Amino acid sequence: MLTVVLDLDETLIHSRQLKLDKHNHPIIDHYTYHYIIMYSKTDIYGVIRRPYLSWFLNELSTFAEICIFTAGTKEYAETIIDLLDPFHIIKRFYRDSTILTNGIYTKPLNIIKPGMDNIVLIDNLIENMQCNPEHGIVVKGFYGDMSDNSLIKLLVELRSNNPQ
Ligand SMILES: [Mg+2]
Repeated sequence: MLTVVLDLDETLIHSRQLKLDKHNHPIIDHYTYHYIIMYSKTDIYGVIRRPYLSWFLNELSTFAEICIFTAGTKEYAETIIDLLDPFHIIKRFYRDSTILTNGIYTKPLNIIKPGMDNIVLIDNLIENMQCNPEHGIVVKGFYGDMSDNSLIKLLVELRSNNPQ
């Protein structure tokens, strides 16, 4: 079965740490956030889901095993992943599974599938694929553009590479 390893930030979501006013209330900027996550009283993030994300994960799960591999910390990312989709994402890998090389968090795929057959990494940063460039697919970075349709194009590409 195909294994699709998805990056989190700027691939599936865009999140921003919200600035606080003098009363420590978050200042909501011009974005519409799908989730507000309060990691602590002063550490508050707004999260925007990339358009078509639920559809994408649903469709993808019919022919692939879905993992997330983020260079974010577990503390930061696991709350977001739980909100996105607790059902279709079967494995999660965080910063502690990356390899830090020259300031770049690269993502070794052999920890997910030792033989590395039929595995792809979807990431907005080509640098993150240095361990296994032949298994990488780069997507345009998502920064909150709600007319973005990259996940539709990506699903079509993944499905056509995996006809069974
Ligand atoms: Mg990213």
